[in-house]
Amino acid sequence: MATRVSILGATGSVGRSTADILSANRDRFSVEAVVGGRDAAALAEMAIRLGARFAAIADERSLPALRASLSGSGIGSAGGEGAVMEAALRPADIVVAAIVGAAGVRPTHAAVQAGRTVALANKECLVCAGAPFMRDARAAGATLLPMDSEHNAIFQALGRHRPDEIEQMIVTASGGPFRTWPAERIAGATREQALAHPNWSMGAKITIDSASMMNKGLELIEAHHLFGVPPEALGVVVHPQSIVHGLVSFSDGAVVAGLAVPDMRVPIAHCLGFPERLGTSARRLDLASIARLDFEEPDMDRFPALQFAIDALAVGAGAPTVLNAANEVAVAAFLEGRIRFGDMAALCATMLDRFGAATEAGVLESVEAALALDAEVRAATLSVVGTA
Ligand code: NAD
Ligand code: MG
Repeated sequence: MATRVSILGATGSVGRSTADILSANRDRFSVEAVVGGRDAAALAEMAIRLGARFAAIADERSLPALRASLSGSGIGSAGGEGAVMEAALRPADIVVAAIVGAAGVRPTHAAVQAGRTVALANKECLVCAGAPFMRDARAAGATLLPMDSEHNAIFQALGRHRPDEIEQMIVTASGGPFRTWPAERIAGATREQALAHPNWSMGAKITIDSASMMNKGLELIEAHHLFGVPPEALGVVVHPQSIVHGLVSFSDGAVVAGLAVPDMRVPIAHCLGFPERLGTSARRLDLASIARLDFEEPDMDRFPALQFAIDALAVGAGAPTVLNAANEVAVAAFLEGRIRFGDMAALCATMLDRFGAATEAGVLESVEAALALDAEVRAATLSVVGTA
């Protein structure tokens, strides 16, 4: 029987790469539901191309356009937050969680609570609500498959092991477009400069996070929750070629690394086929033509966002929630031209200070409590940067 897949965030960068893999393996998969934010035409096109049964659009105002584009297709549709939740809960063997930001928490959490296998691209879920999210996943017997490339590489490198045999887990960072820039130039970088990632083609939010290296900080927090390793066993190394994605070192000194060309179709195919391998048309890795792989320490002075994330992870409790919410508002404000590049990390630091009470143990008793804190921090950050 075909594996039934639902895609939350189907019209985005990860969603479209997922659709490519599904289309190339039609005999193995059927598509249950697709979810998009507000681009009705793109969602309808995706639903029809994949033969989905149901399409949900988060922005209710886009529902008439979605219905018009789907008319005659026999594909069901609905709009608003309830529709997104319905899509997340429809029966599926794999739910791909690829909505961007904390907007993905509720639907992804719903799928997890229903005990589904969730292929997790949306790292903000675990940064916003890590501990209760993982606790609920375990309680429901849900399986989380890491789709983020670094975590997928680590997942593949782990093999058979006991937890006490792991010494360190390392995620690599490309260093982004500003890897060699001096601090003052980074602080004043334009939107276009920040959106020009050297190795990966991704959505706007994660591309900005990669330029500030906040993305790597979010990934450390993600790794902590996904793999249950303590913060001190996690590391980052800058690797400009983005060929080695993640490494695990074991108690005997052996290190196992995951390599591939920087193409999200590789980790996406791994999750969709797991535990089997699917074919992909990703370019094959040719080490001799790449010739060299470079590695360097991250520079926390020029990329303070990474240090703030490491600090938030060490503090624990609601600190990562605060960081994530402030960062999402800051990135949106930067993309809208309301603040400078260098203001983003500063805003996160201000909010971490202001919401010091969120660092108290017990503050994240549930995913709903995390979302309540998220909403509070968003409002406070918006009151600093103003709305568009
Ligand atoms: P994107 O901006 O390209 O796509 C986001 C998707 O979410 C779109 O389909 C959009 O319509 C949908 N969406 C936005 N707001 C929504 C809402 N309120 N309700 C429902 N849907 C909504 O983003 P992306 O680059 O595909 O990234 C998606 C997630 O995957 C992010 O969490 C990102 O960190 C993670 N990720 C992305 C990549 C990558 O290569 N793009 C790699 C690793 C991890
Ligand atoms: Mg990544």
